[in-house]
Amino acid sequence: MGLDEDSLDYHRTDPPGKIEISTTKSTNTQRDLSLAYSPGVAAPCMEIDEEEDEAYTYTAKGNLVGVVSNGSAVLGLGDIGAQASKPVMEGKGVLFKRFADIDVFDVELDEADPHKFVEAVKMMEPTFGGINLEDIKAPECFTIEERLREETDIPVFHDDQHGTAIISGAALLNAADVADKDLEDLEIVFSGAGASAIATAKFYVSLGCRKENVTMCDSSGIITEERAENGELNEYKRQFARDVPEGDLADAMEGADVFVGLSIGGIVSQQMIQSMADDPIVFAMANPDPEIGYEEAKEARDDTVIMATGRSDYPNQVNNVLGFPFIFRGALDVRATEINEAMKVACAEALAELAREDVPDAVVKAYGDEPLQFGSDYIIPKPVDPRVLFRVAPAVAEAAIESGAARTEIDPDEYEEELEA
Ligand code: NAP
Ligand code: MG
Repeated sequence: MGLDEDSLDYHRTDPPGKIEISTTKSTNTQRDLSLAYSPGVAAPCMEIDEEEDEAYTYTAKGNLVGVVSNGSAVLGLGDIGAQASKPVMEGKGVLFKRFADIDVFDVELDEADPHKFVEAVKMMEPTFGGINLEDIKAPECFTIEERLREETDIPVFHDDQHGTAIISGAALLNAADVADKDLEDLEIVFSGAGASAIATAKFYVSLGCRKENVTMCDSSGIITEERAENGELNEYKRQFARDVPEGDLADAMEGADVFVGLSIGGIVSQQMIQSMADDPIVFAMANPDPEIGYEEAKEARDDTVIMATGRSDYPNQVNNVLGFPFIFRGALDVRATEINEAMKVACAEALAELAREDVPDAVVKAYGDEPLQFGSDYIIPKPVDPRVLFRVAPAVAEAAIESGAARTEIDPDEYEEELEA
């Protein structure tokens, strides 16, 4: 059977779907039930009524994330709507649970209007310890996230924007090291100016790259000030408009140190890779087919092409699962009010650091016994590496505390030990 048929079978096997709710307290006796529900349940209600944060003490809020979508940009499938997006949102719940033991309610909202969408999510704030926005199209996703970040007191994180930014940011930190280049000197070209590209470009600036060194291309070519003045660009693209002549992606890539592809497959040629600076960094992350294939890019030049893609069958897979489970784990465990830039940077740095360490045998075995050692073909940890949880979650928690986003303080070392136990 092919993958599609296998997947349909997987999903429809009774019970349909892949998640369920289970209870965490004893429910065997009449007494248990009168504690779980009426009349005993009134006591925690009163405590929370008195002091709202007690919701973290007496309810599942602090380990519950809402994965919320309107189905307007689902995988590579486009705007398939809320109902059809449900398998993806349930799947995100599976990943949260599997990698960080976080519970998820998936919430599919049949609402295209960003304003109404924001209002609906705001109304759900009491339910959740955090909100993971998912598969919402650009540019609406930017406004939706910005407003929810301002108007709620729980972490709101649009994974399609920041997941890619953070994981590829970790890869960039190490790629620059391998290429022996400074972040602030990197000339960076983006192919794509959508949800993930805009967020990634901003995040690279947070990491130390210079905004003046970023050239962004969309489907009409380089994003220039002239195009901005002609009113061709939305406000998010306009932030990256550059005072350069009009041109296409090939023009932009000439002499560049870094190519970041978050657009569509197959649009970069070997000639374009050859035109880049020494030891170029090529993150071709369009899914399922990258802007240029791994072998094709490597073979284009004699020096080292430091390559990452979104694919699991090549080295350096930029996979969001390296980020969101652990970012939320750390954020929830300090009852964070937001996921801010410092927390994202802490995640990228923790991932980059981990990739420089020796890899446990179990992880090497899981990847077919190919040696995994820091270098051009291993700049980010593997998703199944159990150490990612122990390193990233405490780093994020610590950054939350230091940046004032935490409601509770914890000792990062003790916390790391707890996670390992
Ligand atoms: P998006 O918001 O729809 O943005 C797509 C962007 O690509 C748009 O700016 C579009 O230009 C641009 N584009 C289309 N054709 C192009 C061309 N021929 N040359 C240059 N730019 C072109 O999508 P997204 O969510 O950011 O995702 C973009 C891609 O990145 C997808 O393939 C997705 O699978 C991949 N991705 C990978 C990862 C990962 O590996 N971890 C994570 C996130 C996304 P216009 O603005 O002119 O329409
Ligand atoms: Mg997504």
